Amino acid sequence: MLKFKVGELLTRDTGSLERYEIDTSYNFPDNDPKLLANLKGEVILIKTTQGINAEISNFKTEVELNCSRCLEKYPQTIKIPSMEEHFYTSKPKGIKPTEEISFIDMKHHEIDLSELIRQEIISSYDMIPVCKKDCKGLCSKCGQNLNKKTCKCDKSGPTNKPFANLKNLLK
Ligand SMILES: [Zn+2]
Ligand SMILES: [Zn+2]
Repeated sequence: MLKFKVGELLTRDTGSLERYEIDTSYNFPDNDPKLLANLKGEVILIKTTQGINAEISNFKTEVELNCSRCLEKYPQTIKIPSMEEHFYTSKPKGIKPTEEISFIDMKHHEIDLSELIRQEIISSYDMIPVCKKDCKGLCSKCGQNLNKKTCKCDKSGPTNKPFANLKNLLK
């Protein structure tokens, strides 16, 4: 689980900290992202004047992505050296209404790190994921995955040379 009990830590002095290791399987809602391996990392929770600061370091996992060129699923290792989030006990003064802040669940005295981790994972990989740098993609005519085998389509046509027209324009 990615929830941590902080009731005891909240009663201690500012600057007090607790360390945890995480090595856990997890399913994000709608499998977004879909995990292929455990979530691993070191968690440090520090008591602050307004709540708890959570820092995760040496984070590692593996997710399944869809290649934007050949459309095949492929595994992508995710490594994030450090991420952090502050969890407030109550709404701090002077905060902008638009500012997104996280709160400690004061009923259960716990914080949930899953949303922090989800957002960090998603922002760690390219918006246009590619299974490998030289992925050949699909044939624009017959749809064949060109990484697996070549097709007999005529690829000398203008549709496969996106810069051909540009060249003419520059003349
Ligand atoms: Zn691909
Ligand atoms: Zn083809």
